[in-house]
Parts: sequence; structure tokens; C-alpha cells
Amino acid sequence: MYDFLLGGRMRPSQSSVFTFLLIIAGTVIASSSLGFTQATASNDSSGSPQTFKLIPSLDKELMDTAVDPCVDFYQYACGNWSKLHPIPNDSPYSDQFYNLDQYNRQVLHGILDKAAMAGSERDANTQKIGDYYAACMDEAAIQQKGMAALKPELDRINALSSKGQLPELLAHFQMINVNAFLGFGSQQDFKDATREIAAVSQGGLGLPEKDYYLRTGAKDEEIRKQYVQHIANMLKLLGASEAQAASEAQAIMKLETALAKVSLDITSQRDPHNIYHLMPNSGLQSLTPVFNWEHFYPTTGSPSFSEINVAEPEFFRGMNQVIADADLATIKSYLRWQLVASLPGTVLPKAMDEEQFDFGGRKLAGIPEQEPRWKRCVGSTDGALGEALGKAYVEQEFPASSKEKSLQMIHDIEAAVERDIESLDWMSPDTKKRAQEKLHLIANKIGYPNKWRDYSKLNVERGDALGNSLRATEFESHRQLDKIGKPVDRDEWGMTPPTVNAYYSDSMNDINFPAGVLQPAFFDAAAPTGLNYGHIGLFMGHEITHGFDDQGRQFDGHGNLTDWWTKEDADKFTEKAACIVNEYSQFSVGDTKINGKLTLGENTADNGGMRLAYMAFLARAAEQGLDLDRKTADGYSPIQQVFLGFAQDWCAVWRPELERLVATTDPHSPDRFRANGVLVNMPEFAKAFSCKKGQPMVAAKACRVW
Ligand SMILES: [Zn+2]
Repeated sequence: MYDFLLGGRMRPSQSSVFTFLLIIAGTVIASSSLGFTQATASNDSSGSPQTFKLIPSLDKELMDTAVDPCVDFYQYACGNWSKLHPIPNDSPYSDQFYNLDQYNRQVLHGILDKAAMAGSERDANTQKIGDYYAACMDEAAIQQKGMAALKPELDRINALSSKGQLPELLAHFQMINVNAFLGFGSQQDFKDATREIAAVSQGGLGLPEKDYYLRTGAKDEEIRKQYVQHIANMLKLLGASEAQAASEAQAIMKLETALAKVSLDITSQRDPHNIYHLMPNSGLQSLTPVFNWEHFYPTTGSPSFSEINVAEPEFFRGMNQVIADADLATIKSYLRWQLVASLPGTVLPKAMDEEQFDFGGRKLAGIPEQEPRWKRCVGSTDGALGEALGKAYVEQEFPASSKEKSLQMIHDIEAAVERDIESLDWMSPDTKKRAQEKLHLIANKIGYPNKWRDYSKLNVERGDALGNSLRATEFESHRQLDKIGKPVDRDEWGMTPPTVNAYYSDSMNDINFPAGVLQPAFFDAAAPTGLNYGHIGLFMGHEITHGFDDQGRQFDGHGNLTDWWTKEDADKFTEKAACIVNEYSQFSVGDTKINGKLTLGENTADNGGMRLAYMAFLARAAEQGLDLDRKTADGYSPIQQVFLGFAQDWCAVWRPELERLVATTDPHSPDRFRANGVLVNMPEFAKAFSCKKGQPMVAAKACRVW
């Protein structure tokens, strides 16, 4: 799965980065990224809550027109962003995605406050979302119960008397999202997209990525020191003495470092062949002699199966050694730590919640203050009951007209892809034919699912925040595992309706635009055509291009991993893509260079997406009889509006800590380069703003794949 901000391919278990940011740093980073708003940007000193408003499609206030658009177009379009939308104290950044996400949270807040008013007239879904939210907000009850609800889980760890009992325990933990050592779940078979198979993948790290354990340098060493202290602090809060906690934390760090060493790096994970190793169950068993999988599978309650995708075989060989080498006491400490680190801060007693935030939020992401509780509880209700809350959200906020109009835009973009493929001078007719076939098989999913998820088996109790969280996680784990051996449900969504983001899935060959992102400034049915095509049109083109980037091109129209390219065309593709790798590798944030290989797919999608949005705009404008070069009421021509809308998608300001974190782990380039990196490659942009050869916004050698 590819989306706009953090996140990557849909995997059997969440990546450690995603889980980490979601759980430790709070939901804000992972879930938001597209947003727009005319925010009332400052918290006043009395502490009254900040409110967020929708930002217009073209916000001229954001522009710094003193800057020459041919020198730095991003600065020209977004130069006043940081002044007008400074980073709030409870956030690691501020950008259009963030603003729209915050706006949506306000809307969801209203829905949940109402749903939380207990009463017998509530329907089943309203009871669930209302009580889930109310329990999360009930700080007094959470504080009073303390860790009592966790005691059965801690008892399980204490009762572990040999490594031979580890499989049953890890299986139970998998179901409540404790990915100690590994992740287990279901996935679409890469080579037969009609079926769901079992899958295991590497896991078990508490830091965002393997490099965090291994890189040298003062900053990384400092983070590791803080991390070990954080583990010790959490163990103390679980009851360990100072000395005991300190020595256990050291041992845990050693164990996680050993796991990091045998983990596959994130750049290598981009090649689907590197994470696809379908084998009989006995194949996995032979990789891990000390770990009996026959004791693991039944405890998860998964349907039985005879073959499994072992995403990273070398990891499992290494994990076997790590378990063999570690003493039982260290494994038990590690499990206690992984258990407590997997829980959202909102369900933990105050001291633990604060300690989690201090490391994941304050130290790692540079966020001064924890978000107010209501925002976090809105986020966790969306995470647990996203389609129940989403249904209420859509009924209130998403008119049928938005769905119709955005579908029409997607059809325009898809027609542009057809023409674009035909026009390529480097691709043979055979490969073009296959590319067209793939394009015509893309499913367009807009707004919300056709069929809403059934939560009737999930029990939600008022006054039991931790229990609700565990039950919701278990419910979702079972839902995922129950897919094994069943036909694929093509109606399923991987994002909830209020989400401010979008994605493409290789195996589904579908694009998904949740209702949450189909709002101003990204999309406004009343805005000029050029602005809509620059804003949301780019996103649509971006997601479709993912089907044809270095990763997506390896899957066919039915979602199967199969090579449909002639050798010659594949070589030419690689050569074209190398231009993009090289271009973005020149960019850096602070002292960190952008990883051109890691960001290749996203950069290809940004470049292809913008070209498609531009082509689709021209066709639509011709139909509307627009005079392309004539200045409109806002002072810009329709052509210029396309580029301004596009650039304002990326208006942003980030804390340096987050910039650093993301520069090494995010497959997306930083916002400034997402804007300028694309435009320098487009002669159409240079013409629209009269930029000349030799100026910074005109590449000496333009890159173009699609
Ligand atoms: Zn993307």
C-alpha cells in the first residue's frame, strides 16, 4: 500500500516504524499528512483550544510573492506558511494534511460527544463508538484501575518456565498486537491475488528501524542512550527496582540489537521479491529449530493452512539464534517491555502515559506537549471502530455530489494515462498493450466502503479503557487471520473514511480515496478547475502512477507479481528511474541526505501524477472552453492555477527532530522537494511562469519516466 505520508506497503503486520509512531509518538504522525486549513494558528495564553478551519483552494496569504517563482517555486507558493500556521506545541509539524486532519478531528469530536451520551435509544454502533470514546476520556477510572487489567498478561510472562513454552505465549501476544520477535497475519498471495495466505514477518524492535540500533554518530548514540533509559523507566513503573530495571534494560537493548542485525533494511523491502518466500509450513519450521510453530498456530485461533509466506527467511534464521543465545530471564524482561510498549498511552496510568510520550514524542519527534486527551481518544476510537465512526462521519459530512465529481476527475486522469502510455517513445507496443490492460483493471474506490464492517462481536464497555483496547485489537487480529484460505474481499478498505490520505494497493490494483481527503483545499466542487486538478488531481495521478512505479510495475492488472515487460522496455524503465534516483539524492535536510532509492516509488508517483493531472486538466479545460492563459479573478491564469494548487499541497513546516526521523525512514521526500523536484522536470511549468534555461526551477537535464 502506498499513501501520501508515512506508511508503506501493506504488510502482514505493521512495520515497526508505523507501530512505533502510532503507539509511542501518538497517532498524529502516522495518520495525517494531507491537510489543509485556514487555521487560527496560535494557542492563546489562556489555553483555550485551537480551532482549525478549511483552507481555500488558492490561499494567496500563504504565498511569498517577493520570491522569484523561477528561483524557488515552493517558497513562492508557501513562503508564509510557517508564519500563518506555526507548529502547535502538541505537534511535530504543521502542513496542509495536518490541518485538514485536525479539522476532521473536531468534526469527529462532535459526533463522539453526542454518541457518548448514554441512553437506551442508541443503536449498536453508536453505543460502541460512544462508550469506547467515553471510556478513553475517563482518566479517573483509568488511573484508579492502574495496571490491574494487565495483570493476567504479566502473569503469563511470569509463568514462562522454559523457552519451549515461548510459541504459545507469543501467539497469544500476537493477537493483542504485541509483535515481540515477529509479526503473524494474512496477506494476499503476491503470485495469486485471488487468495489470502498466512504470512510471518520480522518484528520485535522498539526503535523505528534497524539502522537506529546500528548507525554510528553522536545523535544516534544519544537516542540509544535515551531509549535504554526509557525502557528502564517503564520497567520501574511496572515494579522493578532501580538497579534491576537498569540491568534489564541493557539486556533488552542487546537482544533488540541482535534482532536488528538480522532484519532486512527498508530499502531492500521495496522489492516485492525480497519479501515473498512462499513455503510449506515445514520450511519455516526448519529455519527455526528452537521455535515449534505447531504450538504457535493453534493458539492464535487461525484457520489451518499448509503453506506460509516467510517474508524475510534470513531474519527467522537469525531470530532462532537470538532465542537460542538469550537466557530465559532476559526473554521475560523483553516480553514485559514489548507488552507495555504496545499499549496506547491513553489507556495507561498517568505516569506511564507521560513516560511514553517523553521518549516517543518529546525526545524522538521533538514535540513539547502531549495532545489534549480528546484528540487522542478521537484517534483511538477511529483506530478501533473506524468504520462505525466512519459511517456516522460520512452521513454527516460527505455529500453524494463530492463522490460524483471526484469520480469524474479520476476518469479524466485515467483517460490521460491512456494517452500518456500511447505517447511514450521508449516503450514497445507489446508492453504498452499490457500497461493499458492494467490501467483498465484499476478499481476506483471513493469515499467509503460499499459494505460496512460488522462490529457486533466486539464488546465495548464504558469505564474499561484498557479492556476495550485489548478486545478491539484482538477482534481485528481475528478478522485478519480469518481471511486465510478464503477468497479475497475486493470491497475491503485499508483506511477509514475520515482519514486524510489515499492509497494504491499492488495486489488489489485499486486506488482508495477516503471521504476525509475530499475536502478543501484539496478538493472543492466550487473551486476553479485548474486548482482542483493541481490539488486532488495530483493525488489521483500519484496513486495511479504507483501501479507503474519500480514496485507497482512488477504486478499485473489482476494484482499478480509477474513480469509483463519485455527485457528491453524494463531496461529502459530502469534507466529512466535512475535519473529520478540521482535527482533526489542531491537533496538533503540538515545534515541528512535524502535516500533516492528508498524514495524512488513516491518520487516517480509525484512526477507521473503531476503530468497526468496536467494532461487531464487540459482536456477538461478544452471541454469547458477555458482560456488557459488569461488571468482570472485571483490574478492567475488557469494554467498557473494548476501549478499553484499543486505546490500548495506541500506547504509545511517540520520540527528538526521529525525531519531527521523521517529523512531516514520515510519513502516520501520532504515537502519542499515534492514540489520543486517535480516542477523542475516540467517544461510546461517553465512556460507558465516564464522561467528560462539556467534558472534553478528549470532542470539542466529533466527526468521523466511516465
Ligand atoms: Zn505514494
